Amino acid sequence: MPSRPQILFPLFGQLTQFSGIGPKIALNLSKLDINSPRDLLFNLPYSLLTRNKVDTVFGKSNNDIIIVEITVDEHIENLQKNRPYKINVSDTKTSFQLVFFHSKKKWLRDLFPIDHKVLISGKLEYFEGRAQITHPDYVLKPGNEEQVPLIEPLYSLSAGITQKTISKAARQALKLVPGLNEWISPSIINKYAWPTWVEALQDSHLPKNINQINSDSINRLRLAYDELLAHQLTLAIARENYRKSKGIKNIGNGTLSSKVIKLLPFDLTNAQLRVIDEIRDDMSQPFRMNRLLQGDVGSGKTLIAFLCMLSAIEAGGQAVIMAPTEILTKQHEDTLKPLAAKAGIILESLSGRDKGKERKFKIEAIATGKIQIIVGTHAVFQESIKYNDLRLAIIDEQHRFGVRQRMDLGKKGNAVDILVMTATPIPRSLALTNYGDMELSELDEKPIGRKPINTVMVSSSRIFEVIERLKAAIKTGNQIYWVCPLVEDSEFIELTSAEDRANKLSKVLGRDNVGLVHGKMPAEEKDEVMLDFINNKIKILVATTVIEVGVDVPNATIIVIEHSERFGLSQLHQLRGRVGRGSDASTCLMLYEPPLGKTAKKRLEAIRETNDGFKIANVDLKLRGAGDVLGVAQSGLPKFRIADIEVHSNLMELAKDEARLIMAKDPTLMSPQGNALRNLLYIMGADQYIKLLSIG
Ligand code: ADP
Ligand code: MG
Repeated sequence: MPSRPQILFPLFGQLTQFSGIGPKIALNLSKLDINSPRDLLFNLPYSLLTRNKVDTVFGKSNNDIIIVEITVDEHIENLQKNRPYKINVSDTKTSFQLVFFHSKKKWLRDLFPIDHKVLISGKLEYFEGRAQITHPDYVLKPGNEEQVPLIEPLYSLSAGITQKTISKAARQALKLVPGLNEWISPSIINKYAWPTWVEALQDSHLPKNINQINSDSINRLRLAYDELLAHQLTLAIARENYRKSKGIKNIGNGTLSSKVIKLLPFDLTNAQLRVIDEIRDDMSQPFRMNRLLQGDVGSGKTLIAFLCMLSAIEAGGQAVIMAPTEILTKQHEDTLKPLAAKAGIILESLSGRDKGKERKFKIEAIATGKIQIIVGTHAVFQESIKYNDLRLAIIDEQHRFGVRQRMDLGKKGNAVDILVMTATPIPRSLALTNYGDMELSELDEKPIGRKPINTVMVSSSRIFEVIERLKAAIKTGNQIYWVCPLVEDSEFIELTSAEDRANKLSKVLGRDNVGLVHGKMPAEEKDEVMLDFINNKIKILVATTVIEVGVDVPNATIIVIEHSERFGLSQLHQLRGRVGRGSDASTCLMLYEPPLGKTAKKRLEAIRETNDGFKIANVDLKLRGAGDVLGVAQSGLPKFRIADIEVHSNLMELAKDEARLIMAKDPTLMSPQGNALRNLLYIMGADQYIKLLSIG
């Protein structure tokens, strides 16, 4: 088993080895996630402090940081408790005060003897019109200017840590940095004129000017790239590991799919055609497919899934599509079964609902290969389900899959190609961060002829007008979703508010017209209500966010979102995506409680202004930051210390390409550059991935 090479040991030593750091300060540093010299090195200053040597404070501004020689005139002791100790001093032109809180008198008298000259540095402030410096940070004998740095880096702090402590520690850590071989390809280093790793660290912690530490400085870019490269390399290793397991060349002859395409009442969009090609091409390769399809709500992913499954059938195998809920399974079954029948193949659903004889019969038919396409919930991946010859597994509406989970899924079946589909688009830089181990397909076009959804913001004070409008809509045969507010941490309140709303609407719109679904309901009851809605038995469906994903009821043309200000952007977009699925024009009414907060307003306006999921995702990234967009806990999104996914997104792209290139050339990282990259991975704490390398 490989383990961290000795040359890197100093980077992972104890912090208490440094002068100025005892156990207590080490503990405080750990609150900043600084636990080793390495962490100190990667904790970069956010700005600079600049000191100016002056003869006098006269004419200087508030907050100027100055170095000045003074003469001590008079000590004014703090007679009352908690009052500061003051010292009157003068320079070449004027007099001012030094101010000290909670300082020992004797110490101050020794430091500032009357009539002596002293060199001080500190921040000049005006208090009640008088110039003063509180706690000068340097107090020296005259003539020792060179001991006061004119420029000092500024670090983020936490309780019990001062700038001095942290910069002193960082300087000591710099001394431990070993000389290592370059891990970045020379062509990239040259192209961007990047410094070496050591130089970049030194210039970052001992900057001479602000240009050396800006987020677009060559130092910062290099160090950010190191971090992204290490990350993309781990994903590339995971990907390589996955592809190593032999795949089957699934080459369909197109007979089934062309039959189905001919029967469709519409043409496939160009984006659909392109994506289908990408997927088929990938399936025909001799290694396993691991692909993510991102496509906005209503962009027609189901059909893509179906046509690709037909390729797997044409190639002689089986295919399965897994949806997150029973309802979606049922929906896929209903849309796909007639198409399958016309293509002359057998499609069946399998879910937790199937019991007894029926279930046994289906499981047998899957095992013998009689059922060719299986549509189901997670039941389809249970241990007890054996496939005759599974070639393609599709996971619908499931973007919150970490790298690990995908690797686990890959173990199921023998060399199964995997396609994950999601209707929650995320910006490309984020997609690369989280799915760099997968191939990406983007469905960036919607079927033509869709009527735009009229989206409006309505103050809750006008709720009665809204209800009147619904009354009219029901009369003309339309159906309506009414989404109830999300109540954080209280399913109980969420539930009562939904029940309450359903009751109120029943009184105005008729009890038989109104149905209610919520998260606490048993699945079967929920499905029953949903089916009543799908079958147009009920006209208005009151729901908590359980309707968020995938449901397709083309006759529903209005969605009311109550307390829309409480929803996230992608949630609002998903919810709105429930309407606008048929040929009639649709409306989304976002009820909100005034006054709107600033970001809530931005969210609602973004939804009103565009129906493009990718644009919305970009706004979301700006408003919330990367971690929150993905939901860090579920996504396994790495926490970058230096790189900023937004600022450095082009570096992410570069790192991905490089990582894949490197793995193609040197899959075990044994070349000289490969060895240097191993060091990088160790430095970044990606030891597990190095173990993965050595297995193969
Ligand atoms: P999603 O991508 O959200 O899963 P669906 O696959 O449910 O979207 O498709 C939404 C609707 O669009 C379905 O009714 C489907 O039949 C229809 N559809 C799919 N492709 C096209 C197309 N090329 N032209 C017109 N309608 C299409
Ligand atoms: Mg779908």
